[in-house]
Amino acid sequence: MSCNSTTTDHDFEAQSQKINNFLQNVDHKIVVMSGKGGVGKSTIATNLAVFLSSQGYKVGLLDVDVHGPSVAGLLGLTDLKLNIINNRIQPYSYTDNLKVISIQGLLNHPDEPLIWRGPMKIGIIRQFLGDADWGSLDFLIIDSPPGTGDEPLTVAQTVIDCQAVIVTTPQEISLADVRKSIQFCQKVNMPILGLIENMSGFVCPSCNSLHAIFKSGGGEKLATAVNIPFLGRLPIDPSVVTAGDAGQSIDSLNNPSKEKLQGIVEQIINQLPNKKKGADSTMKIAIPLAGGKLATHFGHCQEFAIMTIDNGNVIKHETLTPPPHAPGVIPNWVADLGCTDILVGGMGEAAQVILKERGVKVSCGAPSDTPENLVALYLRGELVDSGNACDHDAHGHDCGSH
Ligand code: ADP
Repeated sequence: MSCNSTTTDHDFEAQSQKINNFLQNVDHKIVVMSGKGGVGKSTIATNLAVFLSSQGYKVGLLDVDVHGPSVAGLLGLTDLKLNIINNRIQPYSYTDNLKVISIQGLLNHPDEPLIWRGPMKIGIIRQFLGDADWGSLDFLIIDSPPGTGDEPLTVAQTVIDCQAVIVTTPQEISLADVRKSIQFCQKVNMPILGLIENMSGFVCPSCNSLHAIFKSGGGEKLATAVNIPFLGRLPIDPSVVTAGDAGQSIDSLNNPSKEKLQGIVEQIINQLPNKKKGADSTMKIAIPLAGGKLATHFGHCQEFAIMTIDNGNVIKHETLTPPPHAPGVIPNWVADLGCTDILVGGMGEAAQVILKERGVKVSCGAPSDTPENLVALYLRGELVDSGNACDHDAHGHDCGSH
């Protein structure tokens, strides 16, 4: 099999048909983009694929960064070779749930440079989509080179319902380039799932304090300004480099970066039109309780109602006792339970940030009522979220970090 840039119209149409046949069997297509190189785009794309696949989703990871493919190295697949059987590319099976194709699998040596013009790049991307045995997938994650060149354009034009995740670092020079990526997506009508701010501050391993080396918060401000979702931030973490260089995923780290990335993945899943495989309309709603009704004091409530909803019906109603109250404990406990939503009277900003980062939707301003009534109101869309409702609960306690 070779990349043929002189295909006839007929060949092109036949290949388009094969591409469409494959794409029809992929639930979600996500291209990970960045304005600049070196901001961690491949690290995020690769780990997004690993995290999703370890949650049970069938994932394909396609590296179309022709000039700097790094996905294979990040997964420790230095001798990745792509087999061709019956004229079909066989993706590398990283695990049962994760298949990988990288241009690196076609090179004789990982350091070999590819000097290709646009049509050849377009040709190989189309072959990776149409002539590969991916099978059906829940997610196709595409790692695109930085900028707005041939590769992202081919993806946008070929993968019709693709959505973009944009990675930036917080410095203005990186944000300036990201604005171009945003405009590119708007021009090619590719919806943006959201923006990730990588290398956002450095947590000193000695003193544990956060240093904003490249500044922090610029990505979120930009996302708010241009009205796209902010998916979360990942700090500078030397162990991310060590893991990447050793071909290991962030999933293997068991440190705050893993938790942060987990939160980002949950945010991405929450942004998708069909949230979860086989459970499109499944929700798990947490409600803090006192005396069987919504407790206004979120941080010190006696128990939580955890209601599982499927297709608009409550299929499970549990009452659980939260762990003893300490800053951040209860929001993380709620997220660990797999809750997708939480209904509260009010909640401090710190708790809201944790829940948001972990992909739990917070709805403030709920009245003191039974969980059944509140869920019914919520599902009918009649529970009005008052936004950042309060920093103090009804008893005057600050519930900010609870
Ligand atoms: P890009 O795809 O944008 O060019 P990479 O994902 O290849 O960027 O990352 C560039 C370098 O930065 C790699 O060495 C990677 O390990 C490192 N890196 C990425 N994210 C982080 C992070 N959050 N903390 C520390 N290093 C990171």
